[in-house]
Amino acid sequence: MDKQGFTTGIVHCDRNAGVEHGGLRQPIHTSVQYGFERVEDLIGVFQGTKKGGYNYARQGTPTTAALERKLTMLEEGAGSICFSTGMAAITAVFLTLLRAGDHLVASRYVFGNTNSLFGTLRALGVEVTRVDAGARENVADAIRPNTRMVFVETIANPGTQIPDLLRIGELCHERGLAYVVDNTITSPALFKPKQVDASLAINSLTKTIAGHGAALGGAVTDTGLFDWSQYPNIADDYRRAGPREQGLLQIRKKGLRDMGAALSSEQAHQVALGAETLALRVAKCSENALALAQYLERHEAIGHVFYPGLESHPQHGIAKSLFKSGSWLLSFELRDPANMLDVINAFKLPVKATGLGDTRTLIIPVAPTIFFEAGAQTRKEMGISDGMIRLSAGIEEIEDLIADFEQALRLA
Ligand SMILES: *Cc1c(COP(=O)(O)O)cnc(C)c1O
Repeated sequence: MDKQGFTTGIVHCDRNAGVEHGGLRQPIHTSVQYGFERVEDLIGVFQGTKKGGYNYARQGTPTTAALERKLTMLEEGAGSICFSTGMAAITAVFLTLLRAGDHLVASRYVFGNTNSLFGTLRALGVEVTRVDAGARENVADAIRPNTRMVFVETIANPGTQIPDLLRIGELCHERGLAYVVDNTITSPALFKPKQVDASLAINSLTKTIAGHGAALGGAVTDTGLFDWSQYPNIADDYRRAGPREQGLLQIRKKGLRDMGAALSSEQAHQVALGAETLALRVAKCSENALALAQYLERHEAIGHVFYPGLESHPQHGIAKSLFKSGSWLLSFELRDPANMLDVINAFKLPVKATGLGDTRTLIIPVAPTIFFEAGAQTRKEMGISDGMIRLSAGIEEIEDLIADFEQALRLA
């Protein structure tokens, strides 16, 4: 059959792989152990010679495997591994592929907890250089002989900065560096890191892909483009796999099996249910976010609006050429931040809550909450003002959202 559409692929994925009794979805497999008639099969699962077998749920179940298959399809990758959270996926990538004495070049504009994780890496002897990845030159200038990896996010939260994704991909390819792209804010519905030669794509399943705020999860997808046989930090045991498979194999064994942040079948099921409407939700959220961004940009009480779909956004050109739409992430600043808390309290629809990519619109003042621990200096480096407000646009009717903004902003 010809290559099918994105949503057609998601909603028929389980059925096409075969589900007992003609079920349309992969069931929730709750078993931790998997038994065999013949001990040779048990041995085969341990040694990796029996494909598609399971032995212990920390390394995966048929339910998590079905979600992995779906994610691999969505990212057009070679394979995926699910974790209990997005942070677990990111941690597993760093801790299994970097060693003391290695160097990581990372975007300066990253998720706060990822930024905090860089401190843990430094304490373990991994050097981390944070750069403004908006220009390829900044990444190129930071590369040293011991650089192993470059890490960026597609659209940075909360400032919406976009790296020079394509040209950094070319640079990593030329220099033989692993290129890791956190695709959480865009999701494969808007952008596939494989398009820019990424080695690994990371998604927090909690956000855009599940979309309902009822489950945590994370995933790493290998795009199949990187030759891991040339990468220094692969253990001998995993060199026996093909050159394109060694990276993911090491992440599964060292990162999932040994570190243990496994996704449960129940949560995998919740994520998979949400994922069925991924493309529809993201299209609607993006439409709402753009309409709100345009409304805010015209509003006299608003100082600045950060949204890639606006022509005023510094990387609007990159967003237009690489992303299907601008996503649900939008930040803005009041012209006079003195009344910021009163304005936020006046909102009736946007929920005063952290979290992103939900069906409901969520609103949060950035500096006193998610970037409080980071401190004033880090906030300054990351372009976060004291008056920045982050919005995760939901799927509500836009008229309702605009009406609510209209009344709340009267207090500004
Ligand atoms: C939320 C988020 C994460 C972490 O995901 P969790 O599932 O909450 O652990 C990682 N990266 C980005 C860009 C995020 O927004």
